[in-house]
Amino acid sequence: MVTTEKTLAIIGAIAKVIEENKQYLSDLDQAIGDGDHGFNLARGFEAVSAKLQAQPPANPGAVFKTTAMALISSVGGASGPLYGTLFLKMAAAAGDKEGIDLAGFAALLKEGVKGVQERGKAVLGEKTMLDVQIPVLELLEKEAAAGSGGKAALEKAVTLARQCRDGTKDIIATKGRASYLGERSRGHIDPGAASSCLMLEAIAGEL
Ligand code: ADP
Ligand code: MG
Repeated sequence: MVTTEKTLAIIGAIAKVIEENKQYLSDLDQAIGDGDHGFNLARGFEAVSAKLQAQPPANPGAVFKTTAMALISSVGGASGPLYGTLFLKMAAAAGDKEGIDLAGFAALLKEGVKGVQERGKAVLGEKTMLDVQIPVLELLEKEAAAGSGGKAALEKAVTLARQCRDGTKDIIATKGRASYLGERSRGHIDPGAASSCLMLEAIAGEL
């Protein structure tokens, strides 16, 4: 069961991995966008960490809510509102529950991913963060139904996320800034798919 404290540790691990990879993510974005993805997110998660320290949250849902608000208010670009929506929907679905198990996490993520889809109007296969998020959600739902443990399921999810991240290379972007490049967006990993993959790695590492 993931408690409030564990949720805080997970968000801290995400902030760390984004900070460590901000140049990598921005280099990916330089190839098919405007080169700001990693710097955007690193600034966002710095704001998240500061806010979480200033007002310690009472439950996992409150951790997600603070994360969402900090991302929305500090990240420019498409990814701020999208990741902000993801965490905000997860917060709403978590309510005031004191802990989250695998089935609970899959249920929260379902709401979060639905939010990203509604906000960005993208579907699977458009070379966005959803190309990692949707398959991972489906895998976690199956693992939860099969009664798997959280750590084992998240490790499987990381393996799948890496394949999906790399798979975005073969896709022509039809949403977001990269879509302006059309055919020339092919051959590059989508930065948002890469950041979603890093976040999952951070979650798995904390379980
Ligand atoms: P911007 O494109 O405004 O500079 P970022 O560089 O921070 O924003 O984020 C780019 C990432 O956002 C892309 O790599 C992609 O994964 C994601 N993205 C862009 N548009 C959408 C969308 N409509 N739906 C889902 N994800 C999107
Ligand atoms: Mg960008």
